[in-house]
Amino acid sequence: MREHELMLGSLGAHVVRVRRVEDLDGIDGLVLPGGESSTIDKLARAFALREPLIARIRAGLPVFGTCAGMILLADRIIDGIEGQQTLGGLDVTVRRNAFGRQSESFEADLDIAALGRPPVRVAFIRAPAIEEAGAAVSVLAALPDGRIVAAEQGAILATAFHPEQTGETRFHERFLDRIAQRS
Ligand code: GLN
Repeated sequence: MREHELMLGSLGAHVVRVRRVEDLDGIDGLVLPGGESSTIDKLARAFALREPLIARIRAGLPVFGTCAGMILLADRIIDGIEGQQTLGGLDVTVRRNAFGRQSESFEADLDIAALGRPPVRVAFIRAPAIEEAGAAVSVLAALPDGRIVAAEQGAILATAFHPEQTGETRFHERFLDRIAQRS
């Protein structure tokens, strides 16, 4: 969360934290950060944010989800906890904790054509992965085994990894570009 705030701030954005429904009124874009997706789901419901968030995402609010945030944006989830719900918007099936115990956390250099050179250095932390994506989804990055780890659909951008942890700014710039295009 803090890393996202610092990075967006350094790129010129004014960042506020969304805690209550009213906080959604003034925002032009939303970051769904890492954390624990089942907890974020429970909190979103407890604070009556779930339905307003779904409505804003449907209405085309630019959203950037990292890790748990990617899970929340997926239309379908595998290996969620009992009763876990997502907000949806991204026509994908995501597997939670896709990398198992052996490789819970690792860094990787990914070639992402949409971002150009150099390759993207990113951190995976108990990361999810997309196992299936609908036709409207553009795949930005996949691992050699075919699992998708960065994707886009309309104003939604999602990464299984944390670019904010490695000083990689290009995803955040892309997210801010989406916001600029809309306003
Ligand atoms: N494993 C977490 C989840 O299920 C995601 C981890 C993360 O966001 N770094 O939500």
